[in-house]
Parts: sequence; structure tokens; C-alpha cells
Amino acid sequence: MNQPESQFLPPEGVTPLDQASELVRLADARQPRSSRVMVRDLLDRGFLEAEDSAWLARPVSPLDPRTGFDRVEGMLLGLAIGDALGRPEGGAGWERRARFGERRDYLPNTHTGLPLGYPSDDTQLAFWTVEHLLAHGHVEPEALARAFTAGGRIFGIGHTVREALGRLKRGIPWEKAGPRSAGNGALMRIAPVLLPHLRQPSPDLWSDALLAGMVTHNDRASNASCVAMVRVLWDLLSMQSAPDPSWWVQAWVEPAREIEGATRYRARSPRFSDWDGPLWRFVEEQVPAALARGLDDVDDTGWHSGAYLLETVPTVLFLLSRYGDDPEEALVRAATDTWDNDTVAALVGAAVGALHGRAGLPRRWVEKHSGCIRRGDDGTIFRLLDQARERFWDRT
Ligand SMILES: [Mg+2]
Repeated sequence: MNQPESQFLPPEGVTPLDQASELVRLADARQPRSSRVMVRDLLDRGFLEAEDSAWLARPVSPLDPRTGFDRVEGMLLGLAIGDALGRPEGGAGWERRARFGERRDYLPNTHTGLPLGYPSDDTQLAFWTVEHLLAHGHVEPEALARAFTAGGRIFGIGHTVREALGRLKRGIPWEKAGPRSAGNGALMRIAPVLLPHLRQPSPDLWSDALLAGMVTHNDRASNASCVAMVRVLWDLLSMQSAPDPSWWVQAWVEPAREIEGATRYRARSPRFSDWDGPLWRFVEEQVPAALARGLDDVDDTGWHSGAYLLETVPTVLFLLSRYGDDPEEALVRAATDTWDNDTVAALVGAAVGALHGRAGLPRRWVEKHSGCIRRGDDGTIFRLLDQARERFWDRT
């Protein structure tokens, strides 16, 4: 019978060469290309702003067997809660305190009038990444870039993300689309890249952080921060109690130093006007010094708390070192006292959520979150968390 053989013959009009590349494509689809291989290739071609570091091959320890999915939910809900508590965003902490008092609850939303948790860009892009991971099973940067451009209206979009998405829409390939910007717009949405690694961690975790981040921000401080944040979150998921306050900076700087390398960023704040160097060094020098001064208000550190990573990262690490054992206070301080308060609170929220779990977050903040990631799609966040549990946790 020649029927079994016929399936190997190309259909009419298809050359054997087309067929061969189709077979390669099918093989690739069955066994996705490792993120490390992609990162290796991007580094070789000079497309990725990062040091070619041994950290990228560093093994990732399995999670503690006592860790439940509650911690993963806490991480992603903490991000959404922090973002929502920070709305309306921006402005000086002292001004915001005078106008609204402390941010202990969601303020009435300007569109719905309801005092519920609503997302801005931080939550939207993070949960669009969750959708992407559910669809693809791993980070596919080209498809992730497409998801960001096609996801709908982004509330409070930052100018670097706007520029990156504009380039993508004009047909610029994803690996060339991310501006060299040290803003916090990639870092704020990076937490979901842990999801595909929960059951079978591999060093691909570090490369996934780089690939997902560089889609909108291809900058050494940003790329190093994405890996450092993922490292901190991963370690937090297995902790049984809050770490020593000195842990946060150490855990951050260890990968950040290797991946950022010897860069020279300048601080914007007048108090640090003569400072220049790598972000990791600013963090390593200034955060422990501010903690040693016994400060409660991050505004008193003088490094400012805006969207520039030289401000966001020390602010987040200061708040976590100071208040990491108390998720409510950490989030209230982040949402009340800082300039880019929604993003600072989203980052602090992801960390305290990973450490204390969903059950450790104030219940009113979870219950009063709308679950929106697009206008009118209430409850989506909670549905995506259920799907993420089924896909990346229950199915071993
Ligand atoms: Mg925002």
C-alpha cells in the first residue's frame, strides 16, 4: 500500500525545501527553543543589553515542599493590589498625604465611582503576560510583544512602553523594539515569568526574565533588575518567615552586579548629583546607609522615588527591608509615601505577597479588587489565577 508513504509527499505546489523547513518548524513547536539559547544568540548578535554572565547558567532550586499555590497567588495579587492602592498615581508623597491621607483602602475610581481596586499599566501588562504564558507555556518574546500591542487600552502607560509598542506596530522586530531606557516599566510586570518554572525550575528562568523584559526596555539596569526581581521572588516563595532586613539588598545585588556590569548611570536627585555608576552599586551603598540612619519615611533618603530605576529600586528595597515582615504596612507606605507610588507598591506587593501568601494580605484588599485587566472585564484576574494553578501547579 502506498498510502502510508503518501503522507510524506509534499502537497502540490510545495517544494521539498518548504517541506523540510515545515518539518523543522513542527519539531520546534513540539520542543520549544530554550530561552537560554535565544539569549545566547541575542548576546552574540549584540541585541541584548546585558553582560554575558555565568549567572544565566545558575541552577534554580526547587521550591520548598511546604510552599503552596497561595504564595504564587499572593505574589500576583500583591502586585495588582499595590498598583490599585496607588491609584490615582503620581505626585509627591507629602502632597498626597495632605490630600488623601494614608492609602489604607482603594479610593473611589474616577470612571465607576466605586471604591474598588482597578488596574493601571502595571497590573494590565503583568496579567497580559499571564495570559501569554497560559497560551504558550513559556515566554515567546515575539508573541508577547504582539500581545502587548493588541491587548487594548493601557491605563497610565509609560512613555518607554508607548515608544516600544509604537516601534512594534511599525513592524520593527521585537529584538530591536525595546528602547534603552532605565525606567521601571519592564520591572513592574516581570513577576509572572516565574509561573512556567514552579514545578520544574531550570536556569531558563533567568533568560525568560531577560526576554520578557527587553521587549519594552532593552537597557542594562532594566534587564539586570528583571533578573534580580525574579531571583528575590523565587527565594521568597520558599521562605517560612521574613528574611533578615539585610537579605533584600544582598539577594538583589548578587545577580544584578553580574548582569548589569560596569555601567555609568547618573542620579537625578540633587542630593546625589555627583554620583554616577551602576545601579547595583547605588543600591549596595545607599540602601544599607539609609536603613542605618533609622529612617521610616523613604522620602527622607533623598534619592527620590520616581520611575527611574535608580530611584524605584532603592525605594522598593528600602521599604521591603524596613517593612517586609508586615505586608499591610509595607503596601501602605509604598502607596502613600512614594512618587511613582502605583509601581513601587506593585513591586513591594509582589514581594510581600510571595512571602506572606494570599492569606497574609489584608482580606479587604483582595475582596474589593475588581479583578479587571481591561475595561469592564471584572473578575478576570481571579479566573487567570485559577487557570495558572491548573496549568502550572496542579498538572505536574
Ligand atoms: Mg501604573
